[in-house]
Amino acid sequence: MDYRKLDQQDSLSIFRNEFYLKEDQIYMDGNSLGLLSKRAENTLLQSINDWKNYGIDGWTSGDNPWFYLSEKLGEKSATLVGGKSKEVIVTGSITSNLHQLISTFYCPSGTKSKILADELTFPSDIYAIKSQIELRGLNPETHLVQVKSKDGMTLNEDDIIQAMTKDIALILLPSVLYRSGQLLDMKKLTAAAHERNILIGFDLAHSIGALPHNLHDWGVDFAVWCNYKYLNSGPGGVGGLYVHEKHHSLKPGLSGWFGSKKEKQFDMDHTITPSEDVGKFQIGTPHIFSCAPLLGSLEIFEEASITLIREKSLKLTNYLMFLLEEFTPELTICNPREDHRRGGHVSLQHDEAARICKALKASGVIPDFRSPNIIRLAPIALYNNFEDVWKVAMILKEIMENKEYEKYEEGRNIVA
Ligand SMILES: *Cc1c(COP(=O)(O)O)cnc(C)c1O
Repeated sequence: MDYRKLDQQDSLSIFRNEFYLKEDQIYMDGNSLGLLSKRAENTLLQSINDWKNYGIDGWTSGDNPWFYLSEKLGEKSATLVGGKSKEVIVTGSITSNLHQLISTFYCPSGTKSKILADELTFPSDIYAIKSQIELRGLNPETHLVQVKSKDGMTLNEDDIIQAMTKDIALILLPSVLYRSGQLLDMKKLTAAAHERNILIGFDLAHSIGALPHNLHDWGVDFAVWCNYKYLNSGPGGVGGLYVHEKHHSLKPGLSGWFGSKKEKQFDMDHTITPSEDVGKFQIGTPHIFSCAPLLGSLEIFEEASITLIREKSLKLTNYLMFLLEEFTPELTICNPREDHRRGGHVSLQHDEAARICKALKASGVIPDFRSPNIIRLAPIALYNNFEDVWKVAMILKEIMENKEYEKYEEGRNIVA
């Protein structure tokens, strides 16, 4: 496989020019922090201009009045998660949205009182679950059940389904596991949960913008995500949430004035009249400057289409795995190999992972490291090409053959 041929056949190559890429660098960390596009920069600058020109009137004036921005961005994100526009809102962060939705959906009743998660998930999700259990006066030691992994890297859907016992009230799982990149079968897990009368939600941090979802049709009860990874909205960019329309009559666990029906919000009544759709799960004033870049960024996704993005992403990661198997056999590929079981990054295991990442950075490749021994490489469909993948594989080959990583200190940096 020649990268030149693959690049020639790439229908998404036109989007590469829209991003700020550095000449002497190959960025493979878009799964942690996506790069800035010119369109995202423009919509951010536009929002600053609106502030300059309109002052307080920016809430209702300009092309994108701030008062409706969260709803507008929700509508624009809906196709990416397969939700209806009234089911998606851009607000909060993953962790704050988890607090909101667990506090809404977690209704321990009698012996049906536990939350099911997994032992491989992202720590913040577990911290949120534990504190929500404690807020109900219950004990996480007994009320949080974490499905075990047999190999320390992946989960077996059947093990998860077996753990859906009568005492489980709520399930929270990742769509794609942040280390191994395993993609769970959300449709199957949702059906199994509902057969057992259990509510289920997903954390889409590592799948939104990387692959298509059908949350509404699958019947998923709720989901959360961030927009700063594959969606390129910038560091700390406001996140998103989805709640299936069948739950829109629920009372939010955490209430605040931005959850009001728009026409009622400025009545300043001490009794809230909640929005009738997903908007009710907002809490306070939206962070406009970290919403604004998403406007431009989502335009690119609309034009490129998530189907083609997924297609190219699978090709890029397949190519990367093909090259690494050939040239760096000492690195163990630990993501599942089948296309329908993996997300947008390749996960590599090696005892010297931390030092290999340092050597990669010194050679102009930006990877990311997950303690203690994982290197993640994410070639991004919108701005990486097959030549990047080829070069990264060749650089890694050199590093491994010459043990170049031995020049670097062990251990991770403060942000890894
Ligand atoms: C990135 C990530 C987070 C981060 O949460 P924030 O609240 O946005 O800081 C949480 N969970 C998962 C699975 C992630 O990948």
